[in-house]
Amino acid sequence: MIPGKKKYFLIGFSSIFIFSIFLFLLFFFFFLPKKSTRYTNYQECDHVRFANAPIAPRSTLNDKNDIHLLHAMKNGLKKPFETDSAFYSQIDDLVRMALLVKVADNQFYKLKSLKHSQPYLIPEAIDMLNEIGYKFQERLKEKKYKNFRFLITSLLRTEEAQNKLSHRNSNASIHSSHLYGTTVDISYKNFYNTQTDSIESSYEAVQALTSVLREMREDCKFLVVRERKQSCFHITVVVCRPIDSTMQD
Ligand SMILES: [Zn+2]
Repeated sequence: MIPGKKKYFLIGFSSIFIFSIFLFLLFFFFFLPKKSTRYTNYQECDHVRFANAPIAPRSTLNDKNDIHLLHAMKNGLKKPFETDSAFYSQIDDLVRMALLVKVADNQFYKLKSLKHSQPYLIPEAIDMLNEIGYKFQERLKEKKYKNFRFLITSLLRTEEAQNKLSHRNSNASIHSSHLYGTTVDISYKNFYNTQTDSIESSYEAVQALTSVLREMREDCKFLVVRERKQSCFHITVVVCRPIDSTMQD
């Protein structure tokens, strides 16, 4: 090849190469979705903007049953368990498919002995419980309170268990979000004191828990209602849309 021609060939090739890199970078910076519009998990997601069902920020703890159900049916079990025996025969498969996760005591909370529910929730609700627990512990530390964990009093219910409960208790609606594995009850009457290994009431712990719930409700992390008859907060998780917004339904 003649040296002059080779020189022009190299200049041309380099120009095309540099221009291709420029186009590639342009595509990344301007056409791919910005990182801030995406989320990776429950904790990082901006629920106010990306919740997958309607919800508006508020600091009051009195969301109606209808909106709990809307979110529960969207994100929880497609079909509630009709009976306790149906639950026992299917639960292993649902856990294997990661549709439900077993809830157990940890450094943030303790389960009371469950009479009408099973200790299972959808994965996002587990993340929600841990976030409430972490913030509750931080709030207690700030105020130099004693070491408390909150008590979980109800989780996933079968239709059979829900019907029995509804007969006894007019506050427990037959169509409850507890049927879908998205909803949990946290007591405000009693807390677990880790220093004395006892269950006790605590004004300071109620204040700390209430302030965490108000703050997280303002961020649309869940729906919540204070149930006076059961002395608990009834909380339904809010789930974000999928990462790729073009894939959402
Ligand atoms: Zn409840």
